[in-house]
Amino acid sequence: MSTDHGRVINFGAGPSALPLSVLEEAQTGLVNFAGTGMGIAEISHRSKEFQTFLDEFERDIRTQLDVPPTHRILFTQGGGTGQFSAVVLNLLARYRLLRPQASAEETVLDYVVTGSWSKKAAEEARRLGGSTVRTVVDARVYSKDGKAFDNIPPHAEFAFSADPALIYYCENETVDGVEFAHDAQSPASFPFHLLPQNTLVPLVADYSSSFMCRPIPRLADHAVIYAGAQKNIGPAGLTVLIVREDCIVDVDAAAKLGAAPVPLILSYKTLADSGSLYNTPSVLAIYMAGLVVKRMKENGGLPYYEEVNRRKAKKLYAAVHEGEQKGVFRRKVQQGSESWMNAVFEVLGEGAEKKFLDGAEKEGMKGLKGHRSVGGVRVSLYNAVTEQEVDKLIAYMTRFLAESASVEAAP
Ligand code: PMP
Repeated sequence: MSTDHGRVINFGAGPSALPLSVLEEAQTGLVNFAGTGMGIAEISHRSKEFQTFLDEFERDIRTQLDVPPTHRILFTQGGGTGQFSAVVLNLLARYRLLRPQASAEETVLDYVVTGSWSKKAAEEARRLGGSTVRTVVDARVYSKDGKAFDNIPPHAEFAFSADPALIYYCENETVDGVEFAHDAQSPASFPFHLLPQNTLVPLVADYSSSFMCRPIPRLADHAVIYAGAQKNIGPAGLTVLIVREDCIVDVDAAAKLGAAPVPLILSYKTLADSGSLYNTPSVLAIYMAGLVVKRMKENGGLPYYEEVNRRKAKKLYAAVHEGEQKGVFRRKVQQGSESWMNAVFEVLGEGAEKKFLDGAEKEGMKGLKGHRSVGGVRVSLYNAVTEQEVDKLIAYMTRFLAESASVEAAP
């Protein structure tokens, strides 16, 4: 029988909440996985039982996201940060094979800088060298104070290079306007129509924050999509990659032509050729993520999650908006650019934020303190956070607003 095990509501940004039913099922697997008499953390990654599980995990992602046969699904470690480096190295190798004579000046990497993660990714590309890293657009220029990442730049400002070795964006920062996503013409969606008109555009997307929270728009037009598992689908330690076949290249052949040598463990070809089992994978993380995506399928797949996630975000933003009109809250992202998954706002007034966070914690709602570099309150609305849990937070916010109003009204 399922109890709540004394659990609280976890709005943390990652690692983040996982469905209780999955945690309970995983307890069994930790002790005896698939009837083998061995726990999942104890069994060989080369056993047929694990292979069967891995194959099903891959199938569940492929079917739910509608990944075409042109793309491979790969599993690795190193998180989003590992991919900041890996995408650069693999796509520089690809470019070298396509254009053996290109100089570093001619080898251009286009970065859409719309938040701290894409900024970090661009910095890593610069650090690795061997190319010219270009900022296609910097969202800070269009922000209220010229410094914050608080909106999505207008489409007209995206000027891509004609023949870049990669074009990089971070989905949760760029195309995430909760009102509009999926509408190509909306200011809050990625401007696919402005991409260079060559058929195999090396478009890379960091989906770490929003992977499997709804269908991926224009998935087939991407060269690489990657995500750390620790937000929507599982524990940290697993990174999921969706890589188009033409980006799985012989990095050693490219190195012979002058590209930087690529550590084998970062090479997409190594991963693809070994079925993601070149070395010992994060077995436990794969297992738990596998249980999560199986459960997602049973719940109706991504159309179901898209609907619920949209409702959750809309009602939360409505509560923030109400607080803003009463002068109690202030959103940190401009209207129309808000993320589906991470809502950030300030609680105005001396000591008010602490009061808000402490009060929430007393009512069993944790993980609401904002990122150390951004501050404020951050509410992460990943798949495992239920609509009822969001309703509970909104009820608390409403009470907080009423109390703030009565304090103000007091003589
Ligand atoms: N990209 C995005 C969008 C993220 O949210 C994060 C982590 N919060 C990262 C990259 C870095 O991921 P990791 O910690 O897995 O390296």
